[in-house]
This record gives sequence, C-alpha cells and structure tokens, in this order.
Amino acid sequence: MTARIIDGKAIAATLRETIAAGVGSLGYRPGLVVVLVGDDPASAVYVRNKDRAAGAAGFGSRTIRLAATTSEAELLGVIARLNDDPSTDGILVQLPLPRHIATQAIIRAIDPAKDVDGFHPENVAALALGAPRLVPCTPRGVMRLLDAAGIPVAGRRAVVLGRSNIVGRPMAALLLAADATVTIAHSRTTDLADECRRADILVAAVGRAEMVRADWIGAGATVIDVGINRTAGGTLVGDVDYPAARDIAGAITPVPGGVGPMTIACLLENTLQAAVARRAH
Ligand code: NAP
Repeated sequence: MTARIIDGKAIAATLRETIAAGVGSLGYRPGLVVVLVGDDPASAVYVRNKDRAAGAAGFGSRTIRLAATTSEAELLGVIARLNDDPSTDGILVQLPLPRHIATQAIIRAIDPAKDVDGFHPENVAALALGAPRLVPCTPRGVMRLLDAAGIPVAGRRAVVLGRSNIVGRPMAALLLAADATVTIAHSRTTDLADECRRADILVAAVGRAEMVRADWIGAGATVIDVGINRTAGGTLVGDVDYPAARDIAGAITPVPGGVGPMTIACLLENTLQAAVARRAH
C-alpha cells in the first residue's frame, strides 16, 4: 500500500483564501502584532513569514523588534500597551525568549482575548475543560488537516507522541474534544513502538529526526508528522521515516509541506477569530 499524501500546502492555501475573504467582509482590518526579542535567525524567518502571510490575507500586520538585552519589565510594558491598543486584535510573542526573561510571566501578561498563540493559562484551561477558545496554532492546524483530508476522528484511537505545551498536550485535548480515544506517549513511555502501532491516527511531535520507523505504524493508519528537523546534510526531515512509512500508512503528511503551512494559516484564523469575538463585545 502507498499512503495518500495529505497536502498541507494546498489545504493551507485554501484556508488562507477563506480567511482573506472573511477579513475582506469585516469592514475593518484586524491587527496582528508579532513581538520578536533578540536576533535568533530561525525566529526571524518565522516572524517574517507570519508577517507576510498576515499582510497577504488583509490583516494589518506589524512586527515589533526588540534588542536581545530588552528587560522583562520593558517587554511587559510593550505588552501592556498592545493590550490597551484597540486596533491590536492579536498579540504573538515569538518564542524562545532570551533566558533572562521569564516566558510564563510574559505569556500571562497577554490579554487572553488577544492571545492568538493560545498559550495563556485561561485559554489552556478553556481547552482542557473542553470549551476551546483560542487554541495553539499547530494542533489546530492538524485538526484542520484531518478534517480537510476526510479522516474520521470520533471513536478512533489517536496516539500523540510528545507532550509539550505547544504541540502535544493541546493536540491531545483537541483530539479528545473531537471524541477520539487518546493516548499521550513521551520519553518515559515504556514501549513507544507498541503504543504507536495501535494508533488509527498517529501524531508525531518529538523533534527527533525520523524516529518513528515503519514498523511503529499500523497498516492503513493516518500519520501526521509535526516534527521539523535538519539533518547534518542540511535536509529538512520530520519525526517519521517518511519513505518507509509511506508503504504502510493509509495517509501521511510530508515534511516540508504538511503541518508547517497549516500553523501559519491557523495563526491567521485565530487572529480573525479574536478580532470578531473581541469587537462583538
Ligand atoms: P519539545 O518541547 O522538545 O517536546 C518534545 C516532546 O517529545 C516532549 O514531550 C518529549 O518527552 C518527547 N520526546 C523527546 N524525545 C523523545 C524520545 N526519544 N522518545 C519519546 N518521546 C520523546 O518539542 P515541541 O515544541 O513539541 O516540538 C516537537 C517537534 O515539532 C519539533 O521538531 C518542532 O520543530 C516541531 N514543531 C513544528 C511546528 C510546525 O509548525 N510544523 C510547530 C511547532 C513545533 P518528555 O516530555 O518526556 O521530555
């Protein structure tokens, strides 16, 4: 069997068109502000891509670039001003932050109604309680991929490999909210291969190049590869051994071109959602 490829690039492009149409019908430009502290090259690329995508979809988008030496108090001041600014609907502080800044203190300072990353404890709690508001972009993107690819979730056995606050945990919560039977596996799981093999839907988010081998995958399973890893040779690969997995999975996302493009599209979707919800009050 050769797996069906879930084309995240195409699905994200369609989603972005829908979002742009939604923005166009609002009568105002929802505002997204991305805050970048320091000069991490990967973060700079992510921020540029987010800014471009937001602009192309009709959002008012700007990036605030701050020096790596910015203090926590200064960053809190910037966030307080953005919280008070009526034209700012979404605030995203690009992570990771320099070590002298407490990430959780910054996340907590963002108005939850503008928290388009979905990391604020209020938004995390809403998701955990099964009443999601703004949810993290990558897991939201995975749910959109499953939906667009026509993969049923309710009643299926889902295994999430990884339990980070950014991907694994919210992913598991969203799958549970969609009525999957969910297992979360991690670095202390006794037999990872065995857990993964039982999955109808396997979401890999570990950050270990090609760790998930073909014999970890049940025949016909859907495999969603969140991982982005650069090999010594400079190639981008996921957490799944893609060439081998294609022979056993029923459907699979490639890397690149799978989950990655969905993350940015869902950031735009969150910003639109935040703008509509906030301005309705
Ligand atoms: P993370 O914070 O490092 O978390 C990794 C998780 O994987 C942890 O829960 C860890 O378990 C688990 N893990 C690590 N090594 C393992 C092993 N050998 N066996 C079993 N479990 C293991 O990473 P993350 O932020 O969730 O990101 C995961 C991957 O997704 C990365 O490659 C990242 O680049 C990628 N990513 C992609 C996007 C996108 O847009 N496509 C967005 C975000 C992240 P413990 O908790 O037990 O330590």
